[in-house]
Amino acid sequence: MKHINQFSVILVSVFFVWIFFCAPSSALSTPPADEFPDTAENFADVSDFFAHQKNYVPGEPLNRTVKTVYLSFNIWLRSDGTGVFTDEEYINNKLHELVERLNRIFYSTPLPSSPIEGVDYLRDSHIQFELKAIDYYRNSDLYTATCSSGPRLNRYVFRKHPQKRQYLNIHLTSGNCRGATGYANYPSGRNLESDSYLVSFLRQDADQYAYGYWAFMLHIAHELGHNFELRHPYDSEFCRFSHPDFLFDLFGFEKQDWCNNPRSNCDVCFQQGKWDCPIDDPQTTCTNNIMGGNSDSGSITPLQMGRMNRTLAIRSLRKYAWGYSEEPFEVETSQQWTFNKKFYQDIRVASGVTLYLKGTLEMVPEARIILEPGSKLIVDGGLITNAMYSKSLWQGVIIEPVASRGLAFWRKKKSPGELIILNNGSIINSMQ
Ligand SMILES: [Zn+2]
Repeated sequence: MKHINQFSVILVSVFFVWIFFCAPSSALSTPPADEFPDTAENFADVSDFFAHQKNYVPGEPLNRTVKTVYLSFNIWLRSDGTGVFTDEEYINNKLHELVERLNRIFYSTPLPSSPIEGVDYLRDSHIQFELKAIDYYRNSDLYTATCSSGPRLNRYVFRKHPQKRQYLNIHLTSGNCRGATGYANYPSGRNLESDSYLVSFLRQDADQYAYGYWAFMLHIAHELGHNFELRHPYDSEFCRFSHPDFLFDLFGFEKQDWCNNPRSNCDVCFQQGKWDCPIDDPQTTCTNNIMGGNSDSGSITPLQMGRMNRTLAIRSLRKYAWGYSEEPFEVETSQQWTFNKKFYQDIRVASGVTLYLKGTLEMVPEARIILEPGSKLIVDGGLITNAMYSKSLWQGVIIEPVASRGLAFWRKKKSPGELIILNNGSIINSMQ
């Protein structure tokens, strides 16, 4: 008997110790929500986090998803049907092969020929391509394209095949733009509906059967890089350390040893960028970077991957991209979002946290927003909708049920997550 009594005393003491030392501390750490009015200025603006390329490097919380970009090829011929690529069956096979090779480069990119010390290089860019359409167009006018023909080529294609506006269009034609092998437009951050294009010039005397298809693929990869907002390491990349898009993993963390005279307004020197520059020769500064214009090109640095994936979140090119990861983006502190972003993953708002939305979110069809018990989503003039060109609705806002575990008398009271709509905010095109 005595033994049992001692045990009871210990048990009761432990309970009181818990009451005095544990229970009050958890109560103090979560002040009642009513103490803070729900107005925008009370929530941290996290725009800088969502705007920086480094936060979209594969594996970072904003990039857990492999995205597939839909491509379409348009082969231009003269009005009488003559041209360079005329054997449709043969060319179609070659273009499918080209996209397979492109995917290998983006899935398992070669390591850099001149690595920067201290950088962990990645192989998988989290970007893949799917070839959705190949069509042949007869028009002698557009067969001789110029530097400004991209929008015209797109318009002609969209008139004939309206669904091709949903793909990134690659035009293979003849013509010339200051001697370049091709060009591509940068995506837009302001007009998220604007169309991308890539124009590639085929030499008129080229033989379609003896064509250099590997070099052609490297050229398309380079031009696609521009569509994704990448620039040239040899003349147009950002060259100041202070620029938020500076590529430390391409140029280094300090001025290169070999760099004597950087261009004015540059902290580093550009690399050489010739097709036949030997990258292993210590006398040269060319590299195998995908944007370097070299016959050995193909390498993509982590920050370049970050920038490309950021483009798929906040620039017009995103309308061609699809993919979903079940790993959610966790919102763990109260904050406001004022930007326009496409999500390829769920958003989970943690207990006790408020997500204050003034901007626009586009959600892929598989994605949802999960409100944990005690969280809040305030849509203040903001919009949540399905991604442009979605074939179905997005999953909607899910309010997680309050768990009913533990004994009732010491369970902390928690209310379910709350969804508040203010100032004509709206949630549309969702399953619920
Ligand atoms: Zn270029």
